[in-house]
Amino acid sequence: MQFMDLKAQFAAYESGIRSQIEEVLQSTRFILGPKGMELENRLAAYTGARHAFGCSSGTDALILALMAIGVRPGDEVITTPFTFIATAEAISLLGATPVFVDIEPSTFHIDPGKIPAAITPRTRAIIAVSLFGQCAAMEEISAVCGDRDICIVEDGCQSLGASRNGTMSCNFPKVGVTSFFPSKPLGCFGDGGMAFTSDGVVADRIRGLRNHGQWERYRHRMVGINGRLDEIQAAVLLGKLPYFREELVIREGIGRRYDENLGDVVTVPVTARGNTHVYAQYSIRTSRRDELARYLDRFGIPTAVHYPLPLHLQEAFRHLGCVEGDFPEAEAASREILSLPMSAFLSGPDQGEVIRRVREFFG
Ligand SMILES: *Cc1c(COP(=O)(O)O)cnc(C)c1O
Repeated sequence: MQFMDLKAQFAAYESGIRSQIEEVLQSTRFILGPKGMELENRLAAYTGARHAFGCSSGTDALILALMAIGVRPGDEVITTPFTFIATAEAISLLGATPVFVDIEPSTFHIDPGKIPAAITPRTRAIIAVSLFGQCAAMEEISAVCGDRDICIVEDGCQSLGASRNGTMSCNFPKVGVTSFFPSKPLGCFGDGGMAFTSDGVVADRIRGLRNHGQWERYRHRMVGINGRLDEIQAAVLLGKLPYFREELVIREGIGRRYDENLGDVVTVPVTARGNTHVYAQYSIRTSRRDELARYLDRFGIPTAVHYPLPLHLQEAFRHLGCVEGDFPEAEAASREILSLPMSAFLSGPDQGEVIRRVREFFG
């Protein structure tokens, strides 16, 4: 059994993906060409955002978003300690300081109620992470900022396709980013990402910044980065895109089946009011996490821990001076969380086996 069955997915979509790639090979346009533009147009339409920019990774899309909204050395950016490192890495790479705020335990998302205490005159932005495949509490986060000049960035690297009260992930003001890392809900065959915004000024900045700060060839108005999505990855994504909505429906069904069959033995994920869930990860909580993972492994059932050590306790962020106990909800989640096999190609019998073994473990 695969944690995420990318082989079965490739077998199912192979011919469409190959013909998309073949067109790129024949055209020899590998950077900033028609495939990337078509993908940007399609995903802008899908999310509802006015502008979309293919980027070299989700991490680079985050860096570009922060550059575009003007995050500078000395600024503070509020975010969650319970996320993949890239979220806070992007802040640090711009010379700004990540300021962590603890999570709300049922969704694992930043707790909007705890944000006001972290706001200072230097707070420039908040990165809300739509972890595991459902949107963070975007309206509440916006509300606690009031009329302060704080930009909100959605790290939607795990939540493309999810919606909240009718708004698609990556289409909340002011900027949203996603990732096409192979294991994300929409994955390419290498690194890739996208930045979305409906703000014309931010869009124009991202357009030039991702291409070495040039809006006009060999005229560099700003110091930018090489942050473009390449045409072969765009082709792969165009080959997969026709099946994406259908995959999300299947994932939701698999999530529901886990919910119904495991809710009495472990804490199953909660979908917040107004949200849809794309289950980038189907993550349960149990105080016997390590024991359960070892038990499932004995039967060839793969699991994963997202994430075993919150960011405030990582060596890379030791200079921030945080200590154990600073963010107790994030720390508790790190001890109890376990992700179960999830993909649109997880077969019914295989999921049945996961359910049976989890139940068996708890007697
Ligand atoms: C995957 C991920 C990223 C980084 O995306 P890459 O494409 O791997 O650079 C950032 N934030 C979160 C929450 C992620 O899950």
